[in-house]
Amino acid sequence: MRHLIAGNWKMNGLRAPALALAAALRNAGPIEGCDLLACPPATVLALLADALAGSHVMVGGQDCHAAPAGPHTGDVSASMLRDAGATAVIVGHSERRQDHGETDRAVRAKAHAAQAAGLLPIVCVGETEQERLDGRADIVVGSQLLGSVPEGFIGAVAYEPVWAIGTGRTPADTEVADMHAAIRQVLLDHLGPDGAAVRILYGGSVKAANVASLLALPEVGGALVGGASLMAADFIAIARAASTLSPPAASALSKDGAGA
Ligand code: PEP
Repeated sequence: MRHLIAGNWKMNGLRAPALALAAALRNAGPIEGCDLLACPPATVLALLADALAGSHVMVGGQDCHAAPAGPHTGDVSASMLRDAGATAVIVGHSERRQDHGETDRAVRAKAHAAQAAGLLPIVCVGETEQERLDGRADIVVGSQLLGSVPEGFIGAVAYEPVWAIGTGRTPADTEVADMHAAIRQVLLDHLGPDGAAVRILYGGSVKAANVASLLALPEVGGALVGGASLMAADFIAIARAASTLSPPAASALSKDGAGA
């Protein structure tokens, strides 16, 4: 499995800077051993997909509605993202769980819809700082996984400790390794042998300086990058650092659609 390095732009990206960032990513050329994904706001997704067409960089959404169409003002469906040029979508990011009250059940429905539309769902899970301090991180993340990952899942999971997002803090290597091993076990129990093919990304304050040591840990199949994905030089440096490592075995993400 090649490493997947996914950039979550969050609510950042007007057209001109988005195009400038896309041009820089395109000009960096293919980066060996890595699948690169940029997840801009929905308003510039089609623009970015056009700008990156034929390049090594894929484009994804940051959320989708569970329904294919209908009376859901302000929402975007998975098939709309696909139509705009996306090949993947993040679902259940902790900011959506917090800001929009998204439950595991809602995330699961979104992941299912994304997969049905031909997108790679990237399901986010992660504990709060208090939950970790209380010794409940494994239980919380295990329960999020069971609730958010649909049967027949073909996608990726991003382990993002809430307290590590945008804070400059990361868990100790052993904590990341332990959690990724626990996530793999839950996926195997939940999905059977298919659980082995799910790429498990780490997210939370990933930078060029720490990505290599994070990706060298067992069961870390890539990174979900927030702040550092907004600067082309930083995102490219992260991808280059990732490409120096030999990735774990299995399939690549296809630019034409889902693939774990
Ligand atoms: C994120 O929000 O998905 C994230 C990982 O953010 P940051 O890299 O800025 O911590």
